[in-house]
Amino acid sequence: MSDLLRSVSFVLLATRCPSCDRAGPAPCAPCIAQMGPAPEVPVAPGLDDCLALLSYEGPARDVVTHLKYRNARATARWLAEGMARLVPAGALDVVTWAPTTELRRRSRGFDHAELLARQVAARLSLPLASTLRRVPGPPQTGRTLLERRDGPQFLASASLAGRSVLVVDDVVTTGATLASAARTLRAAGADHVVGLAAAHPP
Ligand SMILES: [Zn+2]
Repeated sequence: MSDLLRSVSFVLLATRCPSCDRAGPAPCAPCIAQMGPAPEVPVAPGLDDCLALLSYEGPARDVVTHLKYRNARATARWLAEGMARLVPAGALDVVTWAPTTELRRRSRGFDHAELLARQVAARLSLPLASTLRRVPGPPQTGRTLLERRDGPQFLASASLAGRSVLVVDDVVTTGATLASAARTLRAAGADHVVGLAAAHPP
């Protein structure tokens, strides 16, 4: 391989830490050392449990928000490994995600929640199912407090009769998005719904 090809493939394959930009693992060990576990997540109505991996601050915040850049896959794999470890063994039988807005999906080129859900499902050896569609709504900033508290609206795109569902999102704050997703999943027949996020604010 010529030096030029070698350097091109290095650039294509190299990852950088999404927090400090150091070349190497995404995220790097010193940044991981600064991350703390998520504080206890309030269990929003409709959920049987709600779990989160990291406290959404410092390097952890960078890692989750930079999921859209070129390190997305490496970072998602790292997050999903930790997220999957939070899930009690044998309690669930399908993994899904709370879809992001079409606008955000288009600007990132992919749905970050789907990317995380795919990696979590692989680690848990569970099937991944696309079960929710997001109803287009006004941007969060143009919405009333009441509308924001109720979260985005979803439609079910699959029957979930009798299923135990793990629903994944990147960040859980008030739990409004996961609660809204859980309402829709239960209306589609799910009888057990657990929320799982990469991070929760301190
Ligand atoms: Zn770093």
